[in-house]
Amino acid sequence: CGIVGYVGPNNTVDALLSGLRRLEYRGYDSAGIAVVDEAGELTVRKRSGKLARLEALLEVSPVISQGTGIGHTRWATHGGPTDVNAHPHLGDNGKLALIHNGIVENFAELRAEVEADGVELLSETDTEVVAALLGLEIAKQGSLEPAFRSVVKRLHGTFTLLAMHRDEPGKVVSARHHSPLVIGLGEGENFLGSDVAAFVSSTRRAVAVDENNIAIITPDEVRITDFDGIPIEFAEYEVEWDA
Ligand code: GLU
Repeated sequence: CGIVGYVGPNNTVDALLSGLRRLEYRGYDSAGIAVVDEAGELTVRKRSGKLARLEALLEVSPVISQGTGIGHTRWATHGGPTDVNAHPHLGDNGKLALIHNGIVENFAELRAEVEADGVELLSETDTEVVAALLGLEIAKQGSLEPAFRSVVKRLHGTFTLLAMHRDEPGKVVSARHHSPLVIGLGEGENFLGSDVAAFVSSTRRAVAVDENNIAIITPDEVRITDFDGIPIEFAEYEVEWDA
């Protein structure tokens, strides 16, 4: 439902929570974040219910992050609003985190495939199947970007997807198909959001990602390609917003 991504030197948990707070108006039933923490581990905190429940969890179970993270507020479509079904979902033996807005219509077929490959799924969501598939693809192809392109091409339905991997810190990859995605351009930091509310408190420089495109952000670089990896040119615009 609400999506935020961050790469940069600032407090990642704060950046994600502030983005999610500004996306709360969309309505949601669960919230969660994944970051690469100061030990270099991929760490997830997620809870059903309001953002206050996630914040309470972070108080008893804090995370300090070095600057790569993704955050999600969920509006459940596949599987009830439980802690386990909340996003982010993990793949590649916990090294990969993924969040998703929308519905993956061919998830049952993909689920059978990843289970046949030995992945044990924990949730009832369509999203975790995508995380599992991406994990298997990374094992085959060796890195996040080519694996991500292969996976998005296999999905039917609607999606905005964000993914990050422990072994490629400082990078968030994203894709959109019938669901919105915007990039926020900062100074030495960059953002992704399901809408500009996700980052407008930090930057008003935005790039709209077009349908069937992939956007990759690092602290110093933004790239957009199509699903085959062919580069797409883009222009930034100034967000007009009374924040
Ligand atoms: N279909 C996904 C789920 O049920 C994503 C829902 C959303 O857009 O928040 O978990």
